[in-house]
Amino acid sequence: SPVIVWLRRDLRLSDQPAIAEAASKGPIIPVYVLDDETPRHRVMGGASRWWLHHSLASLDATLREKGSRLILRRGKCEDVLPRLMEETGACEVHALRHYEPWWRNAEKAVAKKLTLCLHHGNYLAPPGSVTTGSGSPYKIFTPFWRALNERMPPPEPQRRPQAIAAPDRWPKSDDLDDWNLLPTRPDWTGGLRDTWEPGEEGAKKRLRAFKDEAARYEGQRNLPAVEGTSMLSPHLHFGEVSPAQVWHAVSSEGGTVSTFLGELGWRDYAQNVILQFPDYGTKSPRDNFDSFPWRSGKAAQQDLRAWQQGRTGYPIVDAGMRQLWHTGWMHNRVRMIAASFMIKHLLIDWREGEQWFWDTLVDADYASNAVNWQWTAGSGVDSNMFVRIMAPLSQSEKFDAAAYIREWVPELADLPDGEIHDPSPVCRPDAYPDRLIEHRAARERALAAWDKAKG
Ligand code: FAD
Repeated sequence: SPVIVWLRRDLRLSDQPAIAEAASKGPIIPVYVLDDETPRHRVMGGASRWWLHHSLASLDATLREKGSRLILRRGKCEDVLPRLMEETGACEVHALRHYEPWWRNAEKAVAKKLTLCLHHGNYLAPPGSVTTGSGSPYKIFTPFWRALNERMPPPEPQRRPQAIAAPDRWPKSDDLDDWNLLPTRPDWTGGLRDTWEPGEEGAKKRLRAFKDEAARYEGQRNLPAVEGTSMLSPHLHFGEVSPAQVWHAVSSEGGTVSTFLGELGWRDYAQNVILQFPDYGTKSPRDNFDSFPWRSGKAAQQDLRAWQQGRTGYPIVDAGMRQLWHTGWMHNRVRMIAASFMIKHLLIDWREGEQWFWDTLVDADYASNAVNWQWTAGSGVDSNMFVRIMAPLSQSEKFDAAAYIREWVPELADLPDGEIHDPSPVCRPDAYPDRLIEHRAARERALAAWDKAKG
């Protein structure tokens, strides 16, 4: 009898232990279940849905080349999977383990109804397995990374199976287009299409291109005007490439790649945090943040809107927010500046920013997003301090963002390098908005709010 492979954020054929294991047992039925009920308020955002559509189409095409196909079903996983077992006479379900709290619950619910075999494969080491000498999980990144790194390299990636046996009869599948994952009116996805190729093949191309650049990563990764980072994040998020594949490809090049590998370590670390604090996306583990005097009301709403639209009057922040809107991605250095600006300059609750990123990033990831927002806010388990307030204008100069600003804020494109980071009122074009608040005033307001929160 056939074996079902339940796919989620692991949309690849190579180094995919659930597929490899199931395929070694006989015919397999790969299924993706669009389940908008289980994650509740964490349903995928717009940019993620765009990515998912194309990634599923790509996976189906690759499977068809191997005589297989992808079955699409919609509904609650714990209902859909048992039904599919019954229809097909399948004996068990294989899947990679996921760590978002809703997936952990769903895995438990599914396992009560059928034989569910869970495999490790989306992280360098199984989240929860890297522990201190006394067996407790790490809360802080640096010792976590030290311990994880001692266990590296990860096992050599497995090749994709040569052949995938098909069942005698295929069950019915939804039509991907009927899922309406793509926006229709207005279609805001042009910039996404120009930037990305979702799917395993697109991931391979990115990895191949980055391998040759990896030795320069250390020197370039903080410069938003340079394409110095891998841009693998959405591919890693959707599991179109495994971190073990990335690790081995990059390490094989020689040169110093330890900083880059440490970033992959942050990705693992974030999963370890949400395993310990499942509601990390909405809740700070620190008491001070329970009653923090965030701004609210009409003026705060208008400021939030201006931030989302890239109209804050701070060129580096606006460039980042427009890059995000256009491409579904933002450079990491600029993510930090833009997030810090929203939290500390505008004094808006970090959860508002987390939500906006959740909806607009193609790499929106529950763990990485929450960990980085809480890190920036100073509200997390391992985080920056709230009172460390980034100065966007000097950050912009320090990391040489002039060309980046010219690309994303065309109103400022004609300004010389000396003016573009912080245009003076005389040369500021009319089309470019005034600053929402001056840096010094914002700093004082943020520090006063912090004093209040401390009680
Ligand atoms: P590279 O620099 O090439 O790094 C390689 C990989 O390491 C990335 O693809 C990513 O998987 C991982 N990585 C790198 N930095 C981090 C980090 N700080 N935390 C966790 N993993 C990391 N990353 C996401 O994948 N999803 C998110 O939702 C997300 N939200 C963020 C929100 C804020 C406020 C900030 C400051 C950062 C966020 N990041 C998030 C982390 C980081 O910005 C992106 O992973 C990175 O910019 C992706 O680009 P890259 O693939 O070129 O990264």
